[in-house]
Amino acid sequence: AKEAGRARMTLYDPAMDADREERNALELDLRQAIEGGDLTLAYQPLIGADSNEMVGVEALVRWNRPGHGPVSPDVFIPVAETSGLIEALGLFVLRKACETAKQWPELKIAVNVSPGQFRNPAFTDYVRYVLRQTEIEAKRVTLEVTEGYMIQNPKRTRQSIEQLKTLGVKIALDDFGSGFSSIGYLRQFGFDRIKIDRSLIMDIEHSESQREMLKATVALASSLDIPVTAEGIETPEQADIASQFGCDTLQGFFFSKPVSADDITERLMEARA
Ligand code: C2E
Ligand code: CA
Ligand code: CA
Ligand code: CA
Repeated sequence: AKEAGRARMTLYDPAMDADREERNALELDLRQAIEGGDLTLAYQPLIGADSNEMVGVEALVRWNRPGHGPVSPDVFIPVAETSGLIEALGLFVLRKACETAKQWPELKIAVNVSPGQFRNPAFTDYVRYVLRQTEIEAKRVTLEVTEGYMIQNPKRTRQSIEQLKTLGVKIALDDFGSGFSSIGYLRQFGFDRIKIDRSLIMDIEHSESQREMLKATVALASSLDIPVTAEGIETPEQADIASQFGCDTLQGFFFSKPVSADDITERLMEARA
């Protein structure tokens, strides 16, 4: 017992304890936020490259943590993933996004799906349930998935995508080009769209090699008849290049930051007027 005690003493690292405590506190607060309905959604416009009009929105979850201020989803989504909260969070986001998008019949609605949701065998069932409950047209809904999980479980992934597509929803591959992306996967999984990661867009106006990379990626997707969205467009030059190379949809701060549902409604009314 004395030995073990000494071992514990030497391994004791107050910084690590503090980290763990902070993580636990975050997890508790997040659980409360989900249960209390304190998460909200922001919507970022998706712009048609030809029409220059808003053709859809991507729903992005927001959390204003009491006593701390806004926390990035890049921080709390991973916590939700490892603490069993992703199910409830994902269900909230999907339901809220579909409900809200019903008032925007001319728009498509994109919703992020994390690996933890996608891995759940009941995922298709709950998507079906939400579609029925909110009475949104399935073909207006795109689920955005990232590739990490897929590469590890190609067979299951293919099955899940097939099942989801029988519901009529579309599946997009998110963050393409940020990881080990192999365009070979595109064909076998039957994605309806790919979204090119911001890291591939960032330097296109200054870097010839980045331009070549983007051009080749879009060309390959086009050869498979898969439409491409360019993410993270921050300048008019980037918008021009991306659309010139064949991206049919553009998204980024140049057009709009993520905004409230009311702002989207207002913009639609302006566009209609
Ligand atoms: P994502 O799906 O790739 O979403 C795009 C992120 O890039 C958003 O950050 C958006 O605000 C940001 N962004 C858009 N345009 C620009 C731009 O021009 N420049 C820059 N610098 N950033 C831009 P956000 O909202 O912080 O979300 C971060 C990530 O968190 C998302 O990346 C997504 O992976 C995840 N996430 C967000 N909402 C949800 C959700 O409801 N469910 C799940 N599972 N994940 C979510
Ligand atoms: Ca996304
Ligand atoms: Ca993305
Ligand atoms: Ca991302």
